[in-house]
Amino acid sequence: MSPIITRKMDAFRTFYDFIQLKEHIKHFGAQLTVGLVPTMGALHQGHIALVERAAIENDIVVVTIFVNPKQFNNSSDLKKYPRTIETDIALLSRFNNVVVCIPEVNDVYPENDSYSPIKLGVLDEVLEGRYRPGHFPGVAHVVHNLFSFIEPTSAYFGLKDYQQFAVINEMVKQTNLEVKVEGCNTVRDKNGLALSSRNFNLNEEQINDALIIIDTLRFIKNKLDQFEIDDVLEQAKVFFNKGKLTLEYLDIVDAQSFKRVTHLNQKSVCCIAAFCGEVRLIDNILL
Ligand code: AMP
Repeated sequence: MSPIITRKMDAFRTFYDFIQLKEHIKHFGAQLTVGLVPTMGALHQGHIALVERAAIENDIVVVTIFVNPKQFNNSSDLKKYPRTIETDIALLSRFNNVVVCIPEVNDVYPENDSYSPIKLGVLDEVLEGRYRPGHFPGVAHVVHNLFSFIEPTSAYFGLKDYQQFAVINEMVKQTNLEVKVEGCNTVRDKNGLALSSRNFNLNEEQINDALIIIDTLRFIKNKLDQFEIDDVLEQAKVFFNKGKLTLEYLDIVDAQSFKRVTHLNQKSVCCIAAFCGEVRLIDNILL
């Protein structure tokens, strides 16, 4: 980063529409590298890790906070989604090359929206795609529009949402947008629970119960050198069911195509979704 840019950027700013945000970015010149971190707010250290990396790798970072209605297939889930805007802004204000953009629905989806839905194939038929119909088309749409309006150099996503990461890569490939998509490792609490905004809706006992998720993923990783995949998955379901959560899916798929794998001869990912009370949690482990 050039010293001139550093000097100009020492004021943290919040924008409520893309026009003002773009004006602000333009001000710093065409050579500027822009990192984008799209979020739905209720920020935690998982989000902050993305922002930290983006802030190191770019001149300026835009963090968007937008609870995207199109990616919720269930209206009560949308309503229950935690919203902590003031704390979010406070958390981000310590970065001197970060700005926050909190757009309105009409900004993200304008009347003249030119997005035409991409084909997601298997990615939208299995795991999250199967259990949350409409979710990935909604994710691809919002990220496409954020990329087109903000025109970032690079965009940062968490591998905690591994299937989402694959969907975004596919969207970029099909739409020829010039954005470098970066994946960042999952940030966990000291016991291994993946950080998630949805954890804000868990009580202390449930946070403890939810550890069965990472315990099951680790159980699988440890057993795979002794048993076949199907056997391991069966044993893992028995192990999981000793805990208090309700399993939605547990499977091992190819980390790119998301097709089921029967032998571990390629890069694979084990994905899980489960309900802890009313709260739906997901996690994964690379194998
Ligand atoms: P969300 O606000 O849930 O849409 O998440 C915004 C971004 O943060 C997505 O790219 C997520 O994958 C990422 N993210 C969420 N939780 C974590 C985590 N525990 N570790 C790393 N990245 C995360």
